Amino acid sequence: MKDILNFIDGEFTKGTSGRTFDNINPINGEKLGVVHEALEPEVDAAVQAARRALDGPWGTMSVADRTALLHRVADGINARFDEFLDAEILDTGKPLSLASHIDIPRGAANFKVFADVVKNVPAETFQLDTPDGRGALNYGLRTPKGVVAVISPWNLPLLLMTWKVGPALACGNTVVVKPSEETPRTTTLLGEVMKEVGMPDGVFNVVHGFGPESAGAYLTQHPGVDAITFTGETRTGEAIMKAAAVGLRHVSMECGGKNAGVVFADCDLDKAIEGTMRSVFANCGQVCLGTERVYVERPIFDEFVKRLKSSAENLRLGRPEDGDTSMGPLISEEHREKVLSYYKLAVEEGATVVTGGGVPKMDGNLASGWWVEPTIWTGLPETARVIKEEVFGPCCHVQPFDSEDEAIRMANHTDYGLATAIWTEDLSRAHRVAAQIDVGIAWVNSWFLRDLRTAFGGTKHSGIGREGGVHSLEFYTELRNVCVKL
Ligand code: NAD
Repeated sequence: MKDILNFIDGEFTKGTSGRTFDNINPINGEKLGVVHEALEPEVDAAVQAARRALDGPWGTMSVADRTALLHRVADGINARFDEFLDAEILDTGKPLSLASHIDIPRGAANFKVFADVVKNVPAETFQLDTPDGRGALNYGLRTPKGVVAVISPWNLPLLLMTWKVGPALACGNTVVVKPSEETPRTTTLLGEVMKEVGMPDGVFNVVHGFGPESAGAYLTQHPGVDAITFTGETRTGEAIMKAAAVGLRHVSMECGGKNAGVVFADCDLDKAIEGTMRSVFANCGQVCLGTERVYVERPIFDEFVKRLKSSAENLRLGRPEDGDTSMGPLISEEHREKVLSYYKLAVEEGATVVTGGGVPKMDGNLASGWWVEPTIWTGLPETARVIKEEVFGPCCHVQPFDSEDEAIRMANHTDYGLATAIWTEDLSRAHRVAAQIDVGIAWVNSWFLRDLRTAFGGTKHSGIGREGGVHSLEFYTELRNVCVKL
């Protein structure tokens, strides 16, 4: 796929803008191809196609047929598993082991899970007493919202995009997707699968480009869009909410995090180290749920830092396809500059660098990729920017605490509220602490253990609303109450 095209009304198209941008391989900075940018005319065509499709065969399709079709989409992804895998790896540079276990299987699963949710979740009913004694029956009827704009990020491209497209389509909406400019491939490939399985034209559309003055802004400002579901940075979320305010369009916002791991002295230390390692360094630290602040109870602090350091130094940076590669590069040169600016800032703010802090020496053509060292700091004050701001790289700060209350206070000392990971063998403490850290998702003795039926989202600057299971139905449908006088 050298030329990456928009997918509008069932057709792949360069569009008329004539503008392209480069698709870059993060492992070595090489140009892989060009992406055809969608501007106002292309976005308008996509939204119009999505509106028309609401009134076509898709709009009258039975729930059984619609959900069966979504199962075929999942099967279609799995049938081309290796192509999706290659596409995701070319765009992100992430290890094959990660993409083959998480990104692609979950990308397919999102269609099946939400098809099944739609089939199995009942709506509410209420019987009402009336003065004539005959009563009335109220029942809920779910209808699609309409055209949903899906704006997705680059860190888990297929997974996070289908996490929204799956439920949106299951509920009978049509979608226009704007994948991240960094990772256009798997969304485009999904267009091919949609065609193969017989998805009606216009139900799934893809427009490529950037945010401001490009596909992202044109899409979120388009009056033909009924709802916007977004995953990305909090600042971008704010801009999108402003656009959504015109016409009172619904929004679902899954935004940034500055998540805390809380490690008590009574934890199973092996599990806590293994889990914290994954939560800090998986996907090169580019996971919204990732841990960037680790609070460790003082009696085990030194031991914890020593073992985390040694594990971090054992991470293998390398080519995605190499079996022993445990960490890939960052997504882009721009993002590497941002992460390295925080590495520098940490030192300026007084951090002790336990390990890393720079750019690793890579062999051959990898030397020109966007690599950074896995990095651990200690010794920063709570006021440090590195403790407060999301870095989104393979790094964490580790800090001791002396009491449960202090740990909770420090974990909550952030503008964000996405996730936490609590490590303790004391059951009562686990429940107590999970109830007091202000986040959308609290893990106990685990991290990234996801059940797609559960609520997912964040508090404070980490987002608005919940998706997952029945919560996705809340966002992707309107609930009409029908009141029948008997
Ligand atoms: P980003 O906000 O830069 O971009 C996300 C998407 O928004 C991209 O497709 C981008 O082109 C688009 N966009 C940018 N400006 C826009 C505008 N003005 N109007 C419309 N669209 C616009 O985020 P990113 O760098 O791609 O992703 C990393 C961020 O995403 C991190 O902050 C991370 O925490 C967050 N994230 C959150 C979750 C979650 O579930 N809460 C999951 C993954 C990532």
